[in-house]
Amino acid sequence: KLVSKKWKVKPTIIDLGDGVVIEEGGFQIMAGPCSIESEDQIRKVIGHLKENGISIMRGGVYKPRSSPYSFRGLGIEGLQLWYQLAKEAGIKIITEVMQVSQIAEMYPYTDIYQVGARNTQNFNLLDELGKVDKPVMIKRGISGTIDELLSSAEYVFSGGNERLLLCERGIRTYESATRNTMDLNAIAVLKEKTHLPVISDPSHGIGIRDFVEPIALASIMAGADGVIFETHEKPEEAYSDGQQTLNFEESTKMINRMRKTFELR
Ligand code: PEP
Ligand code: MN
Repeated sequence: KLVSKKWKVKPTIIDLGDGVVIEEGGFQIMAGPCSIESEDQIRKVIGHLKENGISIMRGGVYKPRSSPYSFRGLGIEGLQLWYQLAKEAGIKIITEVMQVSQIAEMYPYTDIYQVGARNTQNFNLLDELGKVDKPVMIKRGISGTIDELLSSAEYVFSGGNERLLLCERGIRTYESATRNTMDLNAIAVLKEKTHLPVISDPSHGIGIRDFVEPIALASIMAGADGVIFETHEKPEEAYSDGQQTLNFEESTKMINRMRKTFELR
């Protein structure tokens, strides 16, 4: 595989411009709400990120929801508003693309396209993202193996887009005490197998607010090149994933501990 270390020994560096780089040996934090909800919410999260020296904001405007009656996102208008506010603040955007037709529509307003766990094996979407000149982060499939994640990355890479990130976000196992089972093994194994940066998503990985921090710290020791997590001013009022979302106080605490942990590595 082209994404294998056998083919390329030097690690892939994702340069987003303005000094924001995701690479092996560095440590990037991406944080934000599960869903983009309102101008007020965006402004508050941006303020929180600026206070903590974070340069990449996550958030969904197209949300893959298990129930069609749940909030499904603000769509392109939400993204346009978010982009304007983020740009003014010098913040980069990572957001989920769910289908091929959204790629072009979202292009002017996004810095990293996220492929969600439900689309890891949407091969048409991956083919099209292979033709785009913006970075793509591919999340591991809900019941996907490490090798399947690497094969999904291969679609995009072989299509011509080499600016790729991989994300471990937990997998479905027989365990029901947590939302997913965070596979820390995958982080260690991926770091050995591929030259692509590996990102950890402890929020979806465990799905329970109180356990997000320990899993984030453990994933750093396992070798993650970055962490993506969910934060909101009032998680209990969040439109989605509130149960795994940190408030700003918890978020600041975790950011400081993650940076200390990275120094220990
Ligand atoms: C998300 O990042 O909010 C999300 C839907 O993630 P996943 O695709 O990993 O479930
Ligand atoms: Mn979420």
